[in-house]
Amino acid sequence: MRSRSFRKSLVSAAFVLSLAVTPLLAVGQTTVSLPKNKYSVRDDIRLGRETAVKVEQQFPMLQDEQLTRYVQTVGDRLVSSMPSQFRQPEFDYQFKVVNASDINAFALPGGPMYVNRGMIEAARNEGEMAGVMAHEISHIALRHATAQATKQSSAGSVLGQLGLILGGAIVGGQTGAQAGAMAAAAWMTKYSREYETQADILGARILADAGYDPRDLANMFQTIAQRARTRSPEWLSSHPDPGNRYQNINQEAAKLNVSRNPHKLTRDFQWAQARLRGLSPTRTMAQMERDYRNGRGTSSGGAMAGGRYHGSVAFPSTRTRIFSSSDFQIDVPSNWREFPAGDGATFAPDGAYGDRGITHGAMMGVFRPQDNNLRDASDRLVNGLLQSNEYLRQTGGPTNAYVSSTRGYSTELSGRSPITGRSETVTLYTAGIANGSVFYIITVAPGNESYHYDNAFRTMINSVRFR
Ligand SMILES: [Zn+2]
Repeated sequence: MRSRSFRKSLVSAAFVLSLAVTPLLAVGQTTVSLPKNKYSVRDDIRLGRETAVKVEQQFPMLQDEQLTRYVQTVGDRLVSSMPSQFRQPEFDYQFKVVNASDINAFALPGGPMYVNRGMIEAARNEGEMAGVMAHEISHIALRHATAQATKQSSAGSVLGQLGLILGGAIVGGQTGAQAGAMAAAAWMTKYSREYETQADILGARILADAGYDPRDLANMFQTIAQRARTRSPEWLSSHPDPGNRYQNINQEAAKLNVSRNPHKLTRDFQWAQARLRGLSPTRTMAQMERDYRNGRGTSSGGAMAGGRYHGSVAFPSTRTRIFSSSDFQIDVPSNWREFPAGDGATFAPDGAYGDRGITHGAMMGVFRPQDNNLRDASDRLVNGLLQSNEYLRQTGGPTNAYVSSTRGYSTELSGRSPITGRSETVTLYTAGIANGSVFYIITVAPGNESYHYDNAFRTMINSVRFR
């Protein structure tokens, strides 16, 4: 909106009438255009709708109304900032959160869009999350999936893959490889570098008009690229770097009319991240797909869906092994399993994890709070835990505590675990680390086993090394 009124005032100042608006728009900005497409808008819509049904059968959608509404609100704001020449009134932009840990997001033709929980967790502010969404929205608006099929002279591999679904090849019972191929088609459409550039440019423009800073899009891509060095780069395999991505987006941003006070770390975004942090960890889409293909059925949710709770959980081993992330290292009992998530991980022994989270073990990670006030960041984390684990009550703290030799807080929560039926003690430790980030570790154990766990937890917390 802002940029439009800016342009108008320029125009009237020059005493030029309506036609002058078009050349002004083009000054210095990279041209975005709708590529050639032999499919109809209705084809896009039908393809997207049918694929969406399959995607939602195969991947776990986060059933959190408030969180979904938040992501939809951000999405709506972006869609309403779409330049008029790319508006498709028939497209229905719907945003959902996939309960998957990898930094990924994908869009289907005609409007359905999925943002992974891992993407929201990895974003440093709302602008970064909105950045990836604006990029995906641009692929939808420019109809890149069907345009790519148009380009391919043969049957068209994109549509060919998607055609698996349209052809009805996937029927209940005949899961296996076909379903795997289906999912691959849905979330691994590989866009050309040319389309990537176009989606970056249009995405930047949408962001600026929606009151965001387009440079946040560049920043998010940098985070994704860094993460890709250590983990599976799913997003990058669908959206290859067209070359100098970071620089090009920033260059484009310099030509746009960016709000002086763009939406960054909003209250809603922090609420959303706190809420996600309180949930049990989950797997990557690739892991889910592998399990699906191996006939282990649909993923009902968490990472630990394969786990089974039982009453005889082994005590923590006094032998330890090292877990390393890009921000910290920690020694963990060698008999605990590891479930990486974002920049941290959850650890639990056999019998203590499953689709409802952990009953014994620890979860940890790093995040960047809005202000540099560690106490507020700790409180928000506690609220997130209380919200997503209704049986818990705060029973102590926050009190001053140390993680290794770094100052922070500890807060104690407890309640009757709906899984074990026994009293459970949950302790949250936070510590402020370099560049304003906060490290947290949440320990979980039944109250009457604290004797066996306190030592293990203390050893872990004392062993943390920040990078
Ligand atoms: Zn892309």
